[in-house]
Amino acid sequence: MEHKLEELKARLREIYDLEAIAALLDWDQNTYMPAGGVAARMRQIATLRRLIHEKATDVGLGRLLDALRPYEESLPYDSDEASLIRVARRDYERATKVPADFMAQLSAHASASFQAWTEARPAGDFARVQPYLEKTLDLSRQLAEFFPGYEHIADPLIDLQDYGLRTATVRAIFERLREQLLPIVKAVAARPPVDDSCLYQSFPEQQQLAFTVEVVRRLGYDFTRGRQDKSPHPFTTSFSTGDVRITIRVMENALTAALFSSIHEAGHAMYDQGIDTELEGTPLATGASSSVHESQSRLWENIVGRSKSFWSFFYPRLQELFPEQLGDVSLETFYRAINKVKPSPIRIAADELSYNLHILMRFDLELQMLEGRLSVHELPEAWNARMEEDLGITPASDKDGVLQDVHWYGGMIGGMFHGYALGNILSAQFFDAALRAHPEIIEEMESGHFATLLGWLRENIYRHGRKYTTSELVERITGEGLNIEPYIRYLRKKYGELYGIANF
Ligand code: ZN
Repeated sequence: MEHKLEELKARLREIYDLEAIAALLDWDQNTYMPAGGVAARMRQIATLRRLIHEKATDVGLGRLLDALRPYEESLPYDSDEASLIRVARRDYERATKVPADFMAQLSAHASASFQAWTEARPAGDFARVQPYLEKTLDLSRQLAEFFPGYEHIADPLIDLQDYGLRTATVRAIFERLREQLLPIVKAVAARPPVDDSCLYQSFPEQQQLAFTVEVVRRLGYDFTRGRQDKSPHPFTTSFSTGDVRITIRVMENALTAALFSSIHEAGHAMYDQGIDTELEGTPLATGASSSVHESQSRLWENIVGRSKSFWSFFYPRLQELFPEQLGDVSLETFYRAINKVKPSPIRIAADELSYNLHILMRFDLELQMLEGRLSVHELPEAWNARMEEDLGITPASDKDGVLQDVHWYGGMIGGMFHGYALGNILSAQFFDAALRAHPEIIEEMESGHFATLLGWLRENIYRHGRKYTTSELVERITGEGLNIEPYIRYLRKKYGELYGIANF
């Protein structure tokens, strides 16, 4: 069995290495590659993807996993070995259930659809992408059909992002979240608007970059095992636990773009840097799921990075870097500005509070389309009606409405959005648990120390990599399932204080 386990690890390491090489090509394409390299680079990545698919679906790998089943069952569930075999089998079963030619069709369609979207979006021309989106819906349904026995047609699509999570579970949680959120957002929106003009002055790029590096280094992002570069869309990518990189976008006339994208991505990156090195080179050397990963970027960006405690330490330093712009702006004014609630038609411009309503809406529309209750041509109208209902906004055109996100136009319909809102819910559950174990975390933040919090997150979440599913992890840590209460409590307290509202 030892011998078979070694063979399994060797096969998985090859897949891991090829994935890392593809990720490196992708990082390069998004940062420094000259425009002339696009065509060849896309071909090179496609070649790697084909090799990865061949190795991931090799019958020899399947036989090896079968042979290792008794060995796996003899080991404790959460041992490295049993977890490795379990997760590798899950990946293998998933990869082999979907025929290679279907995957090729899906990926070719995604490229064509993405191309159409890049033209349709600036023109606000939904009709241009409608036939593509109809096909995407059809292919998404077909993909689900490769996993028969589901309760809801979205289950297999959600499962690809958060293994084991059911549509019914997410839907019930989101319904309660919406019920709780709507009155809070409405009460806050009725208050006099906050003046956030201090954030929109001229902030030279070099100082902004220097400040973000200072901040994320202090939070615990390890620059000897990472680096920060610029890209049009911020992202985090990992080539090994020893090389986890982040990118950010800097805007000279808006201070928060670089700052919060840097903290957000560093949250993702600290997760990957914190994975046990014993898991290196295996499918366990990544995060538990997309929603748990997002919980970490949100925890660092919002719960830590937009807190008063955090800024009582960092704000004097920021004022030092920008004396003309911020010298006369008080901490209180700055804190209120970075937490300003102003419902926007655009998801990525949304504040912490109303952001979730954007996600819940997309999740519901995805389900309605998959269930056949909403056709693609009715989508823009349904989108605008829900925006009006939840946020009191009607987008000026489809450009700022149904066309704003790339997800449906470059991917699938189903499972694309729930992770963002679940990430928020989980971030509060995890932070609560960390505070219960270490109430001193808040005081430490006020003095610029984050090691206790990071240590707790590493011990309880990061080091395990992908050993546990979303539900297993949250139960291990909090002793309960997904629960919106800590998140709602956090929002009520924070925004109640900020906007002087005693009861929502
Ligand atoms: Zn993220």
